[in-house]
Amino acid sequence: MADGRPIAPGLFDVDAGEPRLIAAECVACGRRQFPAAAVCPYCAADGTREIRVGPAGRLELYTMVLRAPPGYRGPVPYALGIVALDGGLSVVARLTETDATRLRPGLPVELVVEPLFTDDAGQRVVSYAFRAAAA
Ligand SMILES: [Zn+2]
Repeated sequence: MADGRPIAPGLFDVDAGEPRLIAAECVACGRRQFPAAAVCPYCAADGTREIRVGPAGRLELYTMVLRAPPGYRGPVPYALGIVALDGGLSVVARLTETDATRLRPGLPVELVVEPLFTDDAGQRVVSYAFRAAAA
């Protein structure tokens, strides 16, 4: 993983040498969610267990973001996509590709953790994104 502090706790890790998203699986209905939360958004059961998902998936759809949303300090434009991860969870995530002509539904992608911006204290802040998987 690139050196720097995570943009927020509890979203991703690289403990096994490969980046993974920290998701949750409901102990009652079995559905998965990201980011992880203690209460299931589908059946409202109070009980989830933390799981790791990724790094491989497929791009379902995408859009280009041309202006920085409030609070976002990374580069623009950027692509935002919905990625269907192997294992059956779809997540919304930034894409590293900034050329929309290189994106298409079904594109194999992989999770990366990379620098997004430098904070006011001069520290690099890292976040997760998906890039086109190596062929
Ligand atoms: Zn549930």
